[in-house]
Amino acid sequence: MSAGRYAPSPSADLHLGNLRTAVVAYLAARRDGLAFRLRVEDLDQRCRPEIAQRQLADLRRLGLNWDGPVMYQSERQDAYRQAITHLRAEGLVYECFCSRRDIIEAPRAPHQPPGAYPGTCRCLTRTQREARRASKVPSLRLRSQVDGFAVVDRLVGVSRQPVDDFVLRRADGAFAYNLAVVVDDAAQAVTQVTRGDDLLTSAGRQSYLGSLLGLPPVEYLHLPLVLGAHGQRLSKRDKALAGKPLFDSYGGPAGVLQAIWQSLGLAESGLGAQVEAEITLDELVEQFDWERWSIGVWTV
Ligand code: GLU
Repeated sequence: MSAGRYAPSPSADLHLGNLRTAVVAYLAARRDGLAFRLRVEDLDQRCRPEIAQRQLADLRRLGLNWDGPVMYQSERQDAYRQAITHLRAEGLVYECFCSRRDIIEAPRAPHQPPGAYPGTCRCLTRTQREARRASKVPSLRLRSQVDGFAVVDRLVGVSRQPVDDFVLRRADGAFAYNLAVVVDDAAQAVTQVTRGDDLLTSAGRQSYLGSLLGLPPVEYLHLPLVLGAHGQRLSKRDKALAGKPLFDSYGGPAGVLQAIWQSLGLAESGLGAQVEAEITLDELVEQFDWERWSIGVWTV
């Protein structure tokens, strides 16, 4: 069954912006009659199992019920390896020996977006590669055939987002986020991807990679950010707006849910002013109206 999903990285407790994204992901998926999946994106060294457990507990407190088991990216190495093998067989993978500094300092064509890989190692000969391998373990990059790809977003509309020869596997052996997310969304039958709009510029790379792997396209919902009182993006450092202090400051899960609901322009339906109403997230699904809700930057 097709699904929506929420996919947190367990490197810090979920802040209000993360929780709003999770709640919208849930409302959108359930409203559309989709299954809802949870995935813990614990590929990174900074991720901690105890943080993942706290994140899942906070999501449950808000009333999110996911279908099937939680997927952990740390257990998915074989699937990522297979995807790279598939791309390699098509001639779409190459070894890259560049350091971060090499990339910043490399000459680039004027049309290339900032931060795009300039293609330095794309055309190395076999002899050059062998010589470099003696002193450095390479990362693996996609040999991209395009420089942009159309992304379909229910909020933003259709846009063309940049694609470069992005990393599939880092030199330290870790699989890259852009690869993992595409392989895992397909494995979880995800067709609706809800997340923060800081990832919109990654969506072209991901949609393109999905097309190369023969995977079904997904529809995105990239949500605006939640900003702190000084206009700053909420970050892992805003501890007062995450975890227990956050729940306490809103008087518990119902208060957090109410604030999120109000931020969607839906205050007059559902929770209204009564936090005590004990309305559940599943009951709010009925009142989540694609025609009436609106979501903007939320300053808290
Ligand atoms: N794991 C990412 C994060 O927590 C989200 C990735 C995604 O939704 O595609 O920011």
